[in-house]
Amino acid sequence: MQTQRNLSQLDELSGQLLQRAELAVDYAVITLGDYAAPSNDLCNADALRALRQATFARGAIKEIAVLAADGQLLCSTTPGHFDTQSSSAQVAEFESRNPSIVLQPSHAEGSGLFRVLWRVGDSHSIAATLNIDMLMFDTFPAPLRDEALAEIRVGPADVIARFGDVASTGPVETTRVFASASGRYPVNVALAVSDRSFRNWNPWPQVPVLAIGAMAGALIGLLAAQSLMRPPGPVDALRLAIRRGELVPYYQPIFELATSQIIGCEVLVRWLKRDGEVVFPDRFISTAEASGLIAPMTERLVERALIEMKPMLADRPEFKIAFNIDPAHFVTPGFLDTLDHIVANAGSSAGHVVLELTERNAYPDMKLAVAVSDEARKRGYRVSLDDTGAGHNGLGHIQDLNPDIIKIDKKFVDVFGVVATADAIVEVLVSLGNRIGAVLVAEGIETEGQRAALADAGVAQGQGYLVSKPVPVAAFLTMLQEREVSALPPAHRYAEVA
Ligand code: C2E
Ligand code: CA
Ligand code: CA
Repeated sequence: MQTQRNLSQLDELSGQLLQRAELAVDYAVITLGDYAAPSNDLCNADALRALRQATFARGAIKEIAVLAADGQLLCSTTPGHFDTQSSSAQVAEFESRNPSIVLQPSHAEGSGLFRVLWRVGDSHSIAATLNIDMLMFDTFPAPLRDEALAEIRVGPADVIARFGDVASTGPVETTRVFASASGRYPVNVALAVSDRSFRNWNPWPQVPVLAIGAMAGALIGLLAAQSLMRPPGPVDALRLAIRRGELVPYYQPIFELATSQIIGCEVLVRWLKRDGEVVFPDRFISTAEASGLIAPMTERLVERALIEMKPMLADRPEFKIAFNIDPAHFVTPGFLDTLDHIVANAGSSAGHVVLELTERNAYPDMKLAVAVSDEARKRGYRVSLDDTGAGHNGLGHIQDLNPDIIKIDKKFVDVFGVVATADAIVEVLVSLGNRIGAVLVAEGIETEGQRAALADAGVAQGQGYLVSKPVPVAAFLTMLQEREVSALPPAHRYAEVA
């Protein structure tokens, strides 16, 4: 009777230990899932900051590292700290039920560290290093503490956590083992109790079962509550904001330098928080890019902007609306098909849409970018190269991408006519633009002097505070109407207003 009770209680205890280990791995998988988009550059400073916040928010995760396909460490939230496992291709790997996820035990046996690794396409993987000691403390009922041992393993032999006293459990033949294995991850638990303590252990009927169950239950409950109540990470917050429609388009006019007539606009995203705060894109675009949320964010922005602008576009067939597109998003399979759908659903047409590809980030695959760019133009979109001259890409690939529009970065506009190299770069871009038939747009024009000088240098169009900051839809439409009316001869002006 007592034997039976002890057996079932120790079985249950081993199952509960397993459940806690599984939960820890679940947390790691959920965390990594936020960042596992194929196109992500996770090693830039902003992305790493976001990853660091994720590790702070989840206690069992000590480090998140980004690894190349061959296992080389690319970057980490705590460089040089836990990355001892990363360099080796011989690290044992154990597959979970999800084929992209593998578990890697640490080399240092019993160190309590192991890695949950998510392979993202063929290009890279993200790995969370876990230490689950904290989640396993206080495992045994007091009477068993000195003569029992629990081991949590990855695969058949790699111990990732150990509790209790090895020496006092005695030789194997005098030990009883209670084992549990996970169906989801290659994790198993072995609980060993010396035969002597097993026999002598005489828990009061019922109570210890409850006590053990309640203790483990409370811990698991606590973990679950922590995950629900932890302050949402930046990725969660952004995802929610997208869902709630808090990311809205602001519009900045693009005008002819010669006449100052508005002929198009650029959509710049703003996060309008419920408390009224307006958040600028420099605070969240890198999180959006690093998490892959840039794709749904951009899609909703395009849809909303085209719907808002539809009545205005009806009278202005040549008017262009430019959207900022992350190059990694641009080369995602199906990007143009999805865009076609959005444009059609909004009742608009590709001819109104300009795709602005930034030069800030390196292109993940230039050949593919050229192919998508060609296809985009075939479908009627214009392709624009943003921040030209300011990014990593040099000028060589401009001809490959064959853009319809080249935007001159504000950096050069700021010192145009003052710093000789800026003048030279503008000159080069103007002649390059002429050669490939691309329209030049100068960004960040703040003064009348800049407008005139750039116009003289052969730049056709511009954008900047001189005409307007980015503004919400209503202000933009009003501005457009007022300027058009004031540009009319007086007689027409009267007729139009009346
Ligand atoms: P960008 O595409 O180079 O956009 C131009 C930035 O310069 C905008 O900043 C704009 O407000 C600002 N600007 C325009 N004219 C002037 C001027 O005369 N003087 C000054 N001082 N600034 C001017 P913003 O709106 O803060 O956007 C910053 C960057 O965030 C953008 O740079 C763009 O790279 C990114 N971004 C904005 N919206 C989106 C979006 O919807 N998707 C993506 N992927 N990126 C976006
Ligand atoms: Ca832009
Ligand atoms: Ca720009």
